Amino acid sequence: MSEAPSQVAADDRADIARRIETVRGAISRAAAEAGRDPASVTLVAVSKTNPAEVILEAVAAGQRVFGENRVQEAKAKFPDIKAAYPDVELHLLGPLQSNKVKEAVALFDVIQSVDRPKLAEALAEEMERSGRRPRLLVQVNTGEEPQKAGILPGELDPFMDRCREIGLAVEGLMCIPPVDEDPATHFALLADAARRHGLKVISMGMSGDYETAVRFGSTHVRVGTAIFGARPKPATA
Ligand SMILES: *Cc1c(COP(=O)(O)O)cnc(C)c1O
Repeated sequence: MSEAPSQVAADDRADIARRIETVRGAISRAAAEAGRDPASVTLVAVSKTNPAEVILEAVAAGQRVFGENRVQEAKAKFPDIKAAYPDVELHLLGPLQSNKVKEAVALFDVIQSVDRPKLAEALAEEMERSGRRPRLLVQVNTGEEPQKAGILPGELDPFMDRCREIGLAVEGLMCIPPVDEDPATHFALLADAARRHGLKVISMGMSGDYETAVRFGSTHVRVGTAIFGARPKPATA
């Protein structure tokens, strides 16, 4: 029964490279159809739950931008990967607790989940203290779902004002549409809000809807399952 668990089978390696190529092709086609430059869309490979060996297969296939949901998990995997491949860029996609701000600022190149004034203040303080300046996106709760993180659309203007007041440069917006709704409405809302605020980064689109997101102006699609396969279901209480 002793298999080497760290050994990624040759088939899986080929699979990851092939899936990345498929996703890149679909992004290019969707961009071209929308009259956009395919190079204006960044593929963020969402590697949460996948071990470092699997992530390295994506790196070997040329992928450089990765997304993770949890600070602790990313911290266990990415320092070594980034040491070996300094051009790897890491995005935080999940909720950030104030007590993890220091670690997050040290590790991530982009934090996509700025979602409340307290967090904005903690980030401004830590960035000032450390001199490290990850790029920041504000997560918008476009579906106004009570269980979901993000600034409500109606509160975005004052929140952006607050960020400016405390010297926090925001580069763009991110959203996760409700699972049971047509994402197009949400993509349109986010793209519109980004334009209104003069923000150039629009992070939207996941495995099931990234082509639609590209048509609506997404600059960063976050694709997990379509590259790495289905994740194990999180244990529920
Ligand atoms: C997990 C996750 C993704 C990727 O989802 P897939 O459906 O596997 O592509 C994208 N964005 C966020 C915020 C996520 O948590």
